[in-house]
Amino acid sequence: MLLAAPRGYCAGVDRAVLVVERALERYGAPVYVRKQIVHNIHVVRGLEERGAIFVDELDAVPAGSTVVFSAHGVSPAVVAEAELRGLHAIDATCPLVSKVHREAARFARADSRILLIGHAGHEEVEGTMGEAPERTTLVTSPEAADSVEVPAGEPVVWLSQTTLSVDETMQTVERLRARFPQLQDPPSDDICYATQNRQLAVKAIARSADLVIVVGSANSSNSVRLVEVALDAGAAAAHRVDDASELLPEWLEGVATVGVTSGASVPEELVQGVVAALGAAGFGSVEEVRTTEEDLVFSLPKELRPAR
Ligand code: SF4
Repeated sequence: MLLAAPRGYCAGVDRAVLVVERALERYGAPVYVRKQIVHNIHVVRGLEERGAIFVDELDAVPAGSTVVFSAHGVSPAVVAEAELRGLHAIDATCPLVSKVHREAARFARADSRILLIGHAGHEEVEGTMGEAPERTTLVTSPEAADSVEVPAGEPVVWLSQTTLSVDETMQTVERLRARFPQLQDPPSDDICYATQNRQLAVKAIARSADLVIVVGSANSSNSVRLVEVALDAGAAAAHRVDDASELLPEWLEGVATVGVTSGASVPEELVQGVVAALGAAGFGSVEEVRTTEEDLVFSLPKELRPAR
């Protein structure tokens, strides 16, 4: 078994989960959370057991309650609605998502047309588009780049969701640039360090693996991308599972080497469950393949930091 590293929790997920835990300690249950705090069903259930209540929209939050905004970020309209309703809002948006929001707001102020590469309906995309809805056009794939329209004479910049496939995003950018030679690049990478590192690590194991198992939930963009990246990098097969209970014995038929990794919202204990199950199925020899070290940590919102 080849175990990719880095895998699992990134700094933004770590911080977001800690924000809910600290808010529960400090303000008591219930603490409301708008949308899933991170896209992992096990994490969400664990926080529910401790008193978090997950809601889709703010109108489900009683006046005066504490509400946490998820790691994926919210549009300015949601922040304004929370203020209007007198909610105590705590923002668990990953700082790397907030950075893309600031870029979008800045380019919109400069009257640029923003071509946002991302997936329709994803919470992060909804939040980022909300910074400048009238100046932002969503580009959902390399193919979609061929038909996107930009008003003549407008400066054009591309930005992206943080959890996309790096390779596919670059294909989209090339196709956009072929049509709009003046296309400006973002000031820095929008696809975050954790997404990039997990994709590089899965590529390193996929080349030698007959099968790659990605631990992560179906609505986790970066986990789903890891399956695609593994297949593109040469894995004969790749499947996503939420946990060990979803492993199917037929996947292992004829497999000599299995690779394992996990998305950025996945607790390590779920990976270890998969490792144990695969070990019991005959893949007892485990080698970790590490492509880089990570040591990034984001500080908590001020109100939740320990008192000095
Ligand atoms: S995947 Fe990247 S952008 Fe998303 S929470 Fe983690 S560090 Fe932040």
